[in-house]
Amino acid sequence: MEELEFHNIINDTPRSSPTTHTVTDPRTESPLWPCPIASPADFEDAVASAQIAFKTWKLTPLSERQALLTKLATNLEDHLPLLSQILARESGKSLLLSELDVRTSIAQCLHYAQPANALSDHIQYEDETVKIIATHVPLGVVAAICPWNFPLILSSIKVVSSLVTGNCVIVKPSPFTPYAVMKWIELARGILPPGVLQVLNGGADLGQILTLHPGIAKVSFTGTIAVGKAVMAACAKTLKKVTLELAGNNACIVCADADLPKAVKNVASGAFFNAGQVCVATKRVYVHESVYEEFVRRLVEEVKGNYTMVEDASVPSVFGPVSNKVQFETVKRIVEDCKGKGYEIVAGGEVRESGNAEGKKGFWLEPTIVKGPPDDSVLVKEEQFGPILPVMSWSDEDDVINRSNLANAGLGASVYSSDLAQAERIARRLEAGGVWINKSERPHMGAYFSGFKDSGFGGEMGKQGLLSYSYTQSIHFAK
Ligand code: NAD
Repeated sequence: MEELEFHNIINDTPRSSPTTHTVTDPRTESPLWPCPIASPADFEDAVASAQIAFKTWKLTPLSERQALLTKLATNLEDHLPLLSQILARESGKSLLLSELDVRTSIAQCLHYAQPANALSDHIQYEDETVKIIATHVPLGVVAAICPWNFPLILSSIKVVSSLVTGNCVIVKPSPFTPYAVMKWIELARGILPPGVLQVLNGGADLGQILTLHPGIAKVSFTGTIAVGKAVMAACAKTLKKVTLELAGNNACIVCADADLPKAVKNVASGAFFNAGQVCVATKRVYVHESVYEEFVRRLVEEVKGNYTMVEDASVPSVFGPVSNKVQFETVKRIVEDCKGKGYEIVAGGEVRESGNAEGKKGFWLEPTIVKGPPDDSVLVKEEQFGPILPVMSWSDEDDVINRSNLANAGLGASVYSSDLAQAERIARRLEAGGVWINKSERPHMGAYFSGFKDSGFGGEMGKQGLLSYSYTQSIHFAK
């Protein structure tokens, strides 16, 4: 495990680089492995080989492409222990969560390997004079620019969507979590034709080159809103197709008649799973005033009991450290702001500073609950993307819906109520790409996943997600 080497994969060949960077293990702050940074020549070679591969890959029948997705799934399964261990080291996830990351990537491959889940031709219109067929044509070379919070899942959805629609794909993982993705694509060599699936490691510079290069037909980007806007502006120069999966600040509305024990368990999981580093995490909770005190009391109990800081990654746990120093500083600033403003912290609040009295290291913040901060506080207005949750109260349905709908974000939301008609009435008025009723926010690969407003542009998953990886061609048959 300690001796691992990592490579950019270009035209099915591993390539090292004179320039490397080394990621820090967020549990221990120890350095991991040198990781090669792709050079401009690596990038040009990858685009050139993808363009050559595309000429035949786009003509490969769907059934053959789907059979190769099944092989990719088997390959991931074969390497599950190694990939999960790498992932645990670079991301701070427990082995349990790292395995879940790999297993979800396997499930994505198998989902799109099924004929019913791919795009097929259909008749768009027909009358006595004309029949018009819609068919789906691949775009070319896709650049998959990925974040660090679910390194494999969020790369593999872009990979499988590209492959099943007949595109070639170059993956750029986050420089905070490059290792598992690079190892996955290295281990998958030989399954696909050379140039169809490649990986290049690098940071913002490489991301920018990918968004500007005329040889790239589409960019699928997942990350922050600010970088998403820059990506879209860069893509406009060559009119690339672009999908943006961006930040959310999900509201959760708990009604007076909610099943409180179940709602509490779901809200805790929605907010603190993966230490809150989930784009669709529960990020703001509004609880009806009649059950507010009881809900907060139960939530504190649940979080203190089941979301504890466990240093050993082999202990099954869904809570872990903040994944990198940059995000740790962001979350620390939010905690300090809450403390400075005198907001009531009812659970957690302690940041474990590196090298503290006990000599402990790592980017750890206890799961933290803040009771009743104002709606204009930093914690409520901005995406925290970490283990700190504001819980507010409400009394009027229209008012809580207005407070939940933000001008600048709309990724997900959740509603808890025993009255499904009420829950659905509220859900339909929430301005978010996905709403979950009586469950925490977990995307499903059969459903389109997208953000309203600044939370995205287009989306992924479901059959609708595949449309953005294709041109739709209308073929008109005269009768
Ligand atoms: P980020 O925007 O900092 O980086 C994302 C990727 O973009 C990285 O690979 C980075 O190297 C690259 N990049 C940086 N600058 C670039 C540029 N100018 N041009 C092209 N590429 C560039 O995001 P992050 O910190 O890695 O991820 C966390 C964010 O992602 C959170 O806001 C989270 O909500 C969001 N997210 C959204 C979803 C979703 O599906 N909507 C899923 C996961 C995470």
